Amino acid sequence: MQFSEVIGQERIKSKLADGLNNKKVGHAQLLLGDLGFGGLPLALSFSQYILCKDRNKEDSCGKCSSCLRVLNLQHPDLHFVFPTVQPVSKTSTPLLSLWREQIKEFPYFDLNRWVEKIDPKGRKPIISVYESDEIIKRLGLHAHEGGYKVIIIWLPEEMNISSANKLLKILEEPPVKTVFLLICSDKKRLLPTIISRTQIIPIPRLRFEEIRDYLISEGLNIASADSIAGKTEGNLIRAHEEGVNNNNQDDQRELFIQMMRACFKKDVIDMIGWAEEAASHGKDNQKRFLTYAIHMFRQSILKNYTEDELTMVSGEEEKFLANFSRFITGNNVQDFSTSFNDAVYHIDRNANAKILFTQLCFQVMRYIHNA
Ligand SMILES: [Zn+2]
Repeated sequence: MQFSEVIGQERIKSKLADGLNNKKVGHAQLLLGDLGFGGLPLALSFSQYILCKDRNKEDSCGKCSSCLRVLNLQHPDLHFVFPTVQPVSKTSTPLLSLWREQIKEFPYFDLNRWVEKIDPKGRKPIISVYESDEIIKRLGLHAHEGGYKVIIIWLPEEMNISSANKLLKILEEPPVKTVFLLICSDKKRLLPTIISRTQIIPIPRLRFEEIRDYLISEGLNIASADSIAGKTEGNLIRAHEEGVNNNNQDDQRELFIQMMRACFKKDVIDMIGWAEEAASHGKDNQKRFLTYAIHMFRQSILKNYTEDELTMVSGEEEKFLANFSRFITGNNVQDFSTSFNDAVYHIDRNANAKILFTQLCFQVMRYIHNA
């Protein structure tokens, strides 16, 4: 893809292009940020820029034979490394056709989505030491086109230790005219020695307008696009999941309103019924609901203290908050936020959802009456 097809991130695009044009392209660059901010699309468009035969100052041409081959993810000097589930495949190469399929479908995706695609059993993916051997083999080959070789490593933090050590050796003695693009979402899990060998490029979150415009271009109405863009914190993967894949924000709003009503009335039967209902949705939906609730608490506070100027809610939400927001104050907002964040944490670790949501109702009941 060309830079112009990547959503937002204009500053990063010019930084990458300038580096190449000023012959200051680092041999290992670490694109660091949540995957929903666009690390992979940036790496893909930068690869195309590096390999293009007719690039201008800002972008690849999109038409030359190199561009077309990068577009099809079939360029002989563009290599990919990504986590694999070991019983499915020890290295990336046999999974390349699925990888191409995923990128062509939508280049903004996370590790969960990728595992869904390659392993129906959903087992843990890693980048194994076999992969580092494979990289060394590929580096031994001459660049087909006589120019640069580009190696995109998606989620290097999923390397196990022996694999990471081998990669470190490669980065310590970088082969000429080879660019490594590491797309990392969790720097803490990378070896510090690897980090110190790279040029770090922090990828910022996308702007509210960029997410909103994307959602509108996908057919959402302005009110829904505003509401989703407001709560997905510059993360296009989340915005896409909520707005395009699963347009269930009406359900979330209803679930939220039911919960708050039952807890406000101290109606234990309703609370238990509600918890059963909430627990019946899948894990992803449960987490989405909790994140949505945190968003609604924040919006309530904003409404209380800024007289509506900063709130990002739809008309229906606005109606509910008109009465409800006064129950969220400086006395309890931190409690709400902590409890709901803890709930996300425990759901990720497979807690019993029915018990978890029941407990959460009792906490909300206490907090709400402590405004
Ligand atoms: Zn080109």
